[in-house]
Amino acid sequence: MKAAALLIFIAFSVSVSAKKQGNKHYITNQSPLVAQPYTTLPIGSIQPEGFLLKMLETQRDGLTGHLDSIYSLVCGPDNGWLGGTGDGWERGPYWLDGLVPLAYILDDAELKKKAQKWIEWSIQSQREDGYFGPKPLPEAYIKIPGTQQGMRNDWWPKMVMLKVLQQYYMATEDERVIDLMTRYFKYQLKLLPENELGYVTYWGNRRGGDNLAIVYWLYNVTGDKFLLDLAEIIHEQTFDWTAVYSGNMIRSLNPLPNLHCVNVAQGLKEPIVYYQQHPEEKYLGAVKNGLSALRDCHGFVNGMYGADEFLHGNIPTQGSELCSAVEMMYSFETAVPITGDVFYADYLEKIAYNVLPTQSTDDYMRKQYFQQANQVKITDEPRNFFHDTNGRIVYGTTTGYPCCLSNMHQGWPKFIQNCWYATADNGIAAMLYGPSKVKAKVANGEWVTITETTDYPFREKIRFTIQPESDLKFPFHLRIPQWCKSSRITVNGAVQNNEVSENIVVLNREWKPGDVVELYLSMDFRFSRWNEMSLGIERGPLVYALRIEEEWREITKKGYDDTFWEVLPKSPWNYAISKKVIEEGDFEIEVNEEVKSNPWNLENAPVRVHTKGFRIPEWKEEKGSAGPIPLRPRLVGDRVEEEIVLIPYGCTTLRISQFPVH
Ligand SMILES: [Zn+2]
Repeated sequence: MKAAALLIFIAFSVSVSAKKQGNKHYITNQSPLVAQPYTTLPIGSIQPEGFLLKMLETQRDGLTGHLDSIYSLVCGPDNGWLGGTGDGWERGPYWLDGLVPLAYILDDAELKKKAQKWIEWSIQSQREDGYFGPKPLPEAYIKIPGTQQGMRNDWWPKMVMLKVLQQYYMATEDERVIDLMTRYFKYQLKLLPENELGYVTYWGNRRGGDNLAIVYWLYNVTGDKFLLDLAEIIHEQTFDWTAVYSGNMIRSLNPLPNLHCVNVAQGLKEPIVYYQQHPEEKYLGAVKNGLSALRDCHGFVNGMYGADEFLHGNIPTQGSELCSAVEMMYSFETAVPITGDVFYADYLEKIAYNVLPTQSTDDYMRKQYFQQANQVKITDEPRNFFHDTNGRIVYGTTTGYPCCLSNMHQGWPKFIQNCWYATADNGIAAMLYGPSKVKAKVANGEWVTITETTDYPFREKIRFTIQPESDLKFPFHLRIPQWCKSSRITVNGAVQNNEVSENIVVLNREWKPGDVVELYLSMDFRFSRWNEMSLGIERGPLVYALRIEEEWREITKKGYDDTFWEVLPKSPWNYAISKKVIEEGDFEIEVNEEVKSNPWNLENAPVRVHTKGFRIPEWKEEKGSAGPIPLRPRLVGDRVEEEIVLIPYGCTTLRISQFPVH
């Protein structure tokens, strides 16, 4: 009798687990896809606070909230994704890819209304056969310069709109999205054998990983088996990123065929996404290997790589595109929940907290197409970039090339959306750190709210206040960054000695309303060497760079759609640092009492590092950039060391972040 009851119990639990794998409350990988340790929460579950909230509010008041009027030629009412004869390609969907999460995280009625027009049109546009999006234009249409009206049957812009619709569903659960995707993916399954991903433009072939990720996501919602067949075809037709990242191609200075900067960033997700269906180590290994190759041969201390269109080596005055930064972030945001590997979370914070804030203006009304790790002057003059025209480095709107103007908006909203995850053991994980609040289902579906109060990334302490509705047992996962040599966790003041496994600590206990967890992450200086043995200085998640006084001037120029800003240096930049300073640890840190709502500029920089450098008169400007890094500069003759101030890279506009070393 007892044995029979036990058998029934086992049978019951097997059937339950076969039905839903992993986290019980949210959409997560289902068999045969590999179980994922972390799961993305619905949009609206995570609320930014402090400076993270300020970043979103600035986007709302800046370009993201107003691109339809500021860039009306492309994102206005004539866009193909609103049924017009204007641009019918990627730029409308790019904007929505940031606008939708922004609107729903901020719960902003006006922004939601703006986004809804595009969503409704996209849903209504679906044909009987499953196709959706702008229809091919009639033979004789009026050409509008500055837009991409053609290429409407390209698979690529749909990949972006699928990401938009997925996020819209994660905010609203509008079931029409599931229906649209199912019918569209059946259409893809039928058409792809003949019209391959790259049949209209090569972008579809390079960026198939974005398509693939949504196919798996839909599988987790509906369990439709045809999606797994479609996934195989999409992977097959996508550029072989696994081979490229595993091999030596990236290790050549100017690889052929050309590797485009944004594709390299976007492609990083493909092997990891496909790994879900084929969990073989080679896919994960490829991405790590590719990132090492990028670092070794094209890398900068800021985490980006020299690729001013095509990969272009590691001289710190080569450019890195804003699209590359936000797409690299999105690739890492895809990798973290699948792999649970904190390497990607650390890297994601590095891009968000260093590269991202400085590539747009404080009011989020202008952006740079390229930024430089050593950037001493921002003017509309040719530099040594692959593509060198149209103000590649100035702060403008359509300057450089207009992709970034539309694609930049996803940066902060998606970063915030990935700060917290649900976990496979029905708990919650704090994965990226910053001031925020989360409300999510844990344990058997009970709600918990956790408030994260912190000045991270500028300070070492993070405080979590836990509010279950009543006493409740659930696991709370905390990331210990790989750069952190010493961490400490307390619960209500009592030091915890939990095991750290793969840089994750799990506090599994009964939580009472008002419990407080404090996490202390020591931030020690780290020194690294780059092009011509130049010195990079990091501390915690932040890179430090020379503080240079700035003079901003707004320029109106014939042939440009809009005004743009140039920035000139008002203090010297040609400093070297001696080995002695590094060895003696001659770095004095000064942290402000208060972190301002926008910490990302010279005035508000929350941290200053006082150290010593000496000027090298022969290190001069060349073609608007700092000349080649002097190898082994000498501290001789009348050269003297003087105090220099370093501030977080993200607070600089002009900077030296890779110093010559004596
Ligand atoms: Zn771009």
